[in-house]
Amino acid sequence: VEKTVDVAVIGSGGAGLAAAIAALDKGASTLVLEKFPVIGGNTVRTGGQINAADPEWQHQFKAIHGERATLEKIYNTPEDEIAEEYREDFRALKEELDQYFKDLDEGKSYLFDSIHLHTIQTYIGGKRMDLDGNEIHSDIELIHYLTKNALPTIDWLKEKGVTFDEHMVAEPVGALWRRAREPQASEGFGYIDPLTTYIEDHGGQIMTDTKADRFIVEDGKIVGIQATGRYDQKVTIHVNKGVVIATGGFGANIEMIKKYDNYWGNLPESIPTTNSPALTGDGIEMGQEVGADVVGMGFVQLMPSADPITGNIFSGIDCPPSDFIFVNKEGKRFVDEYASRDVLAKALFDQGGVIYNISDAEIAKTRFNSTDEQLANDVKKGACFKADTLEDLAKQLDIDPAVFVKTIEDYNSYVDQGYDEEFQKGAFNHKVIVPPFYATPRSPATHHTMGGLKIDAQTRVLNTQGQAIEGLYAAGEVAGGVHAGNRLGGNALADIFVFGKLAGQNAAE
Ligand code: ADP
Repeated sequence: VEKTVDVAVIGSGGAGLAAAIAALDKGASTLVLEKFPVIGGNTVRTGGQINAADPEWQHQFKAIHGERATLEKIYNTPEDEIAEEYREDFRALKEELDQYFKDLDEGKSYLFDSIHLHTIQTYIGGKRMDLDGNEIHSDIELIHYLTKNALPTIDWLKEKGVTFDEHMVAEPVGALWRRAREPQASEGFGYIDPLTTYIEDHGGQIMTDTKADRFIVEDGKIVGIQATGRYDQKVTIHVNKGVVIATGGFGANIEMIKKYDNYWGNLPESIPTTNSPALTGDGIEMGQEVGADVVGMGFVQLMPSADPITGNIFSGIDCPPSDFIFVNKEGKRFVDEYASRDVLAKALFDQGGVIYNISDAEIAKTRFNSTDEQLANDVKKGACFKADTLEDLAKQLDIDPAVFVKTIEDYNSYVDQGYDEEFQKGAFNHKVIVPPFYATPRSPATHHTMGGLKIDAQTRVLNTQGQAIEGLYAAGEVAGGVHAGNRLGGNALADIFVFGKLAGQNAAE
């Protein structure tokens, strides 16, 4: 098989489809290669929550317990702990917060947000130290591009057929703030289905079961892709304008994770993954073969709230983190459940790996991506425990009922007083009072690889000398530098669509 197109995109997750649409809209003939039989990659497995600061929308919602303290903590961060290039954003944020705190004092209650807060939280949320003692933080140009373009990109997605549920502000685990929308249709399919339809309606081609193997290079410029088709036939793609690598991360490749890991140290070989088995880091290796540089490869995100056996994020009850109540095998809480994903994963490892997330009937209503039938089925197969009393739930978990009931009563009293005196939980909402009660077993699973191909703020792939490789762009999880050492929940979908769109536009130039 031999084809010639203006733009070729490798990978049909959110980043790849966004790139293909942007290229088609510029009049480029466009082809997407997908190694799996199905379209959508890891993007279809997400809860669908996409972050964007949209104060006008968020201001309609009330503030909840703990949020003011969370903002005060950021406000009171000493300026010398903020990298120099982020200080202008930090000062601007503090001015906005002066006004917000005044409003709260005057009795106005609303959910605050701004591009400055999103920027500073992404920066602080990602600033980490590797095991050699080197600090890493996000590239400010990438973060600015992300936080400023998140909302316009949501509007662009709407134009392409994605519909959002805007009746509440959603928030996945480790988001550190409420600023996400969810698509109306189920999870990641709410994006992938309409975007695929748009591509097909506008003359784009998607070849599934076709795996990109290597680039064809002429005079230092990427001019094509060598791939393998469904029946092992040779597929050669000649490219007139540009190639976008959108192959996702390497979360399903434990060997590669362990080779680069410079944060966790001793990850168990048997750790579950939330990933599609397709996510093996192909695009990173293909890029490296043509001289591309990589950044942040030592940082792998573990999803703290996954099923201990299957890695499924949505088994049992997965609710907003403000409604998480994590209890260990002694029946005690042990962490601020609103913390970042790496902090939670470390805390879970310290408890022996498996803990329970406790919910009542009201919290159960806030859960993501699970119908009543699915929940009942999870209870039946033991992926979630259910009981009419807290005592009975404790017995099912082999926990001392007296200890467990005291833990829940204490938690409920923190909700009443608006302050968690034990763990200073960053935001919280419901008490645990309405039966039936649920306990969902949770453990860390490999989830997102922050590291990847080094790109500039135009998504051009850079070589080890810092120069752009002609004709080569990368977007989505395959690219590094955006999230540094820890990605905020809800930032991945913003990232893949914002940068996917940009990569497609640029590749079509
Ligand atoms: P992102 O979130 O960055 O868009 P996803 O994980 O959603 O990434 O999608 C990545 C897609 O790339 C998956 O569908 C995966 O099967 C595909 N892919 C990975 N490697 C290759 C390859 N070598 N050739 C073609 N497609 C690939």
